[in-house]
Amino acid sequence: MSKARSSEHDDLAPIREAVRALCADFPGEYWRALDREREYPAEFVAALTKAGFLAGLIPEQYGGSGLNLRAAAAIMEEIHAAGCNGAACHAQMYTMGTILRHGSDAQKKKYLPAIAKGELRLQAFGVTEPTSGTDTLSLRTTAARTNDGYVVNGQKIWTSRAEHSDLLLLLARTTPKDEVKKRTEGLSVFLVDMRQALGKGLTIRPIRTMMNHATTEVFFDDMQVPAENLIGEEGQGFRYILSGMNAERILIAAECIGDAKWFIAKAGAYAKERVLFERPIGQNQGVQFPIARAYAQMRAAELMVQEAARKYDAGEDAGAEANLAKLLAADASWFAADMCVQTHGGFGFAEEYDIERKFRETRLYQVAPISTNLILSYLAEHVLGLPRSY
Ligand SMILES: Cc1cc2nc3c(=O)[nH]c(=O)nc-3n(C[C@H](O)[C@H](O)[C@H](O)COP(=O)(O)OP(=O)(O)OC[C@H]3O[C@@H](n4cnc5c(N)ncnc54)[C@H](O)[C@@H]3O)c2cc1C
Repeated sequence: MSKARSSEHDDLAPIREAVRALCADFPGEYWRALDREREYPAEFVAALTKAGFLAGLIPEQYGGSGLNLRAAAAIMEEIHAAGCNGAACHAQMYTMGTILRHGSDAQKKKYLPAIAKGELRLQAFGVTEPTSGTDTLSLRTTAARTNDGYVVNGQKIWTSRAEHSDLLLLLARTTPKDEVKKRTEGLSVFLVDMRQALGKGLTIRPIRTMMNHATTEVFFDDMQVPAENLIGEEGQGFRYILSGMNAERILIAAECIGDAKWFIAKAGAYAKERVLFERPIGQNQGVQFPIARAYAQMRAAELMVQEAARKYDAGEDAGAEANLAKLLAADASWFAADMCVQTHGGFGFAEEYDIERKFRETRLYQVAPISTNLILSYLAEHVLGLPRSY
């Protein structure tokens, strides 16, 4: 896949090389062993943190490396192209954006340098709830004002990495739905210090999923949150969460591009070496065309990811491109995953080839952090001007 690599921007080559070198210490055996036991890749995350990659988007004034989103996307892409999985820690990179954009000076000074140093982990965010799902504005977790703060009651689901994070970015309702002027108001964002809250109104229960993802459900039972942990203005939380979604979508799209590159490289190599009927299977068009198609889809999606990151970094509205990038990249990685299994025949199902693991991992991105249908709805409504469907 040297051609796939050569499509990359030269100025990012040193970052990409450094990520690749780090990932070389975490080969398939490492991920397979963790996958079997559903264990967290603590050593891998520690290595990324130590190298400063997860603090890439934090500005230099707060101790980060002040990279733009394009460079951050290259980091996530390389992790996945190397066969590793950034899902264990990608949120450490972008969740802090809510504090950076909407937090007070005091909050920025308190949290961002510690996050940049890796002393503080902010890689859990609680938006999704079991009853409301994609319909975020119907979420039921409440934060009621008290004399010195808020008291939180409710439940979140799919709160990934909660057991491996110190802080949780929480979206909760502070004004009942029928009392707000605009339907997008009445939700607020809080920074919950889970080290203090655990056992005092906060319960975390892991959910075992089809891939190793460290996701959980989280319960709040009269959990106290100090007033100073409210981010921005009360009632404006939905807007703050939305403003971080483009970055998240672009970074996850970049992970999908990395996955697609891994599957294409793996399938291409195998198709050249596996000899049947006295010729490599890759000589058959029935085998080579799906690989070529996966490559074409990956390249098209990769260009959209680059365009989305470019617009984001230029401060332009990247909403449409971020959604397009996520849709196309997730489709490209899923097509490539399926193609890779097919190219390997029975061996595609064998654990030791890593394909079945990556296949399970990349499947997630048709559903999270936003499902394909909801992206199509966004494009239909906001780009094509069709009537709102929900
Ligand atoms: C492993 C994993 C990790 C996750 N991590 C996090 C996390 O860290 N934090 C967090 O807050 N959330 C997280 N999520 C939640 C994720 O964002 C949601 O699963 C996703 O947004 C879909 O919501 P849902 O599961 O409630 O599905 P639902 O909203 O119940 O939707 C079910 C299906 O119906 C479709 N659908 C729903 N409404 C419409 C409509 N109007 N038009 C067309 N189709 C529709 C959806 O596309 C979907 O296919 C995670 C999920 C998973 C599986």
